[in-house]
Amino acid sequence: MKHLTKESSIEHLEKSKSSKNKEDWKSKSDEFWRENLTELQYQVTRKSDTEYPTTGFYDQFNEEGDYFCSCCGEILFKSESKFDAGCGWPSFDEVAAQGKINYFEDHSLARKRIEVKCANCDAHLGHVFDDGPTSTGKRYCINSVCLGFKKK
Ligand SMILES: [Zn+2]
Repeated sequence: MKHLTKESSIEHLEKSKSSKNKEDWKSKSDEFWRENLTELQYQVTRKSDTEYPTTGFYDQFNEEGDYFCSCCGEILFKSESKFDAGCGWPSFDEVAAQGKINYFEDHSLARKRIEVKCANCDAHLGHVFDDGPTSTGKRYCINSVCLGFKKK
């Protein structure tokens, strides 16, 4: 497994963006993801791991723009929907558009959770909870490493 530097990771994201949706991202092999993601990105997006709270680049990050999937480049969230839930992970109260994210029941902990995945490439992103503080009532708790950012 390659350990990418921050620069080459960003370069990878740029490449993903320009080629988004021209490829069948769901048919990519495990080997492809191991080669093209950093180890942490791979473990979280492909193995449903969770990054340590407060360690993610986008946890305390408030620029205006779009957040895209770090695997396939699909835009998933907008900065307008981001809020600080104080939980240590980037939080959003809604998805950029309908159909961008798929929902799955997750029984890996004692309480049932709803796992969210990128609809375009099946990347694990995090979970959504019904305790959001805004009018949507939703709190999408997303691993920072699953996201890239494009400034407005
Ligand atoms: Zn994706």
